[in-house]
Order: sequence, then C-alpha cells, then structure tokens
Amino acid sequence: MSRILIVEDEEAIAELERDYLELSGFEVYIERDGNKALQRGLSEPFDMYILDIMLPGVDGFELCKQFRNKTNTPILLVSARKEDIDKIRGLGLGADDYITKPFSPSELVARVKAHLARYDRLIGSMPSKKDIFTIRNLTIDNASHKVWLNGSERNLTIKEYELLDFLVNHPNQVFSKEELFREVWDETSVGDIQTVPVHIKKVREKIEVDASRPQFIETVWGVGYRFRL
Ligand code: CA
Repeated sequence: MSRILIVEDEEAIAELERDYLELSGFEVYIERDGNKALQRGLSEPFDMYILDIMLPGVDGFELCKQFRNKTNTPILLVSARKEDIDKIRGLGLGADDYITKPFSPSELVARVKAHLARYDRLIGSMPSKKDIFTIRNLTIDNASHKVWLNGSERNLTIKEYELLDFLVNHPNQVFSKEELFREVWDETSVGDIQTVPVHIKKVREKIEVDASRPQFIETVWGVGYRFRL
C-alpha cells in the first residue's frame, strides 16, 4: 500500500484530502507543522508527498527542496495563491506537480494516482530493480530499499536501511561503533556514536527472527558488529 505524507496546517483541508485518499486505498499521514514534517519526511519512507506552501515553521518550498535532495519520490505542491505558481515553475524545486486551492478532492486523487503510476513505471525500468539479494530468510531490494523477513515486509527507516545496506555490502567484516557512525552518518548528523547501537537494535528487531539471538548482525564483544553471510 502506498504511503502518502500530507503536510497541511488547515485541519479541515488535511482531513478532506486524507478521507478521499484513504477511500482510494492509500495509507495517509498528516503533519501540520513544517519542522515536524521535515523531520518525519526525511526519516520515514513515503511514496508521495503532498505539501501545502504556507506552513508554520519550514514552508512547502523548502520542504520540497529538502525532500528532493534526498529522494525521487513524487511531490505535489498545494498552493493557495496564484503568485506561487510562477515561483513553483521558476524555482526549479523539483516538484512533480502543483494544484491550487480550492480544488476538488477527486482531482487530487486523480493526480496522485497518475504520479504514483508514472513513478512505478520509472522504478520498474531501472536495471537496479533486479538487484535483489537474498540470504537465508532475508531479502533486500536495493532499488526500492525494501526488506522482507520470511516473505513479510519490514519497514526500515532510511537510516536503518543505510546501516543494514553498509553492513551487507561488507559482509563478515567487523566494524566499531565509531567506524559505522563515520560511514553511515555524515558530519551534519545530529547525535553521537551512541545512535549506532540504538539503530543496530532497531534493525535487529526488524530483520532477526529473534533479536536477542541475532543470525545476521552479530556483536563481536569489545570490537563492534558484523553482518554474517
Ligand atoms: Ca497553509
């Protein structure tokens, strides 16, 4: 099921959008504040973003730019002012589409469906789509960043996936917390190396049958962690 993030501070509009999209079978999440939306949109996987422009905190233009830096996920901007449209066209923000208020909810649903279908075709045509790696009961798809354990999909955050991806690509090598922090997190990351064991724990909870007896990500006492092939 496609996950959609709606960022909209007007509750009635957000709920109307959500109701119509849910009726069409989408899984919908709402954020009303730009700062919270930025944090959530960058840390959780979404299949589409619907961004209002005027928001408390970070505005929709900035959200669009930040999300586009990180992902090709379709972005639909929602504008209340005609002046915004020139800006959307001129700024090169990387938005896929825009819609102006007031709009009919069925128009919104039609646009969302069209963009998701186009994006699916784009992803499907990429050669890396076939880059599926299976080891024992764990399957990882490099293209979609999806992970399955015993055939059931596990939802990893972007960071959790990046950590798993790094370890999988360096199998049987032991890495210290410091090394993993340096490799997987960049200088601009908030937090410190203690975020590494926290993320290891979360990844284990998602990819291990029994997180207390891991078969994939082993702890090498006093040294660090390794992904066991
Ligand atoms: Ca607004």
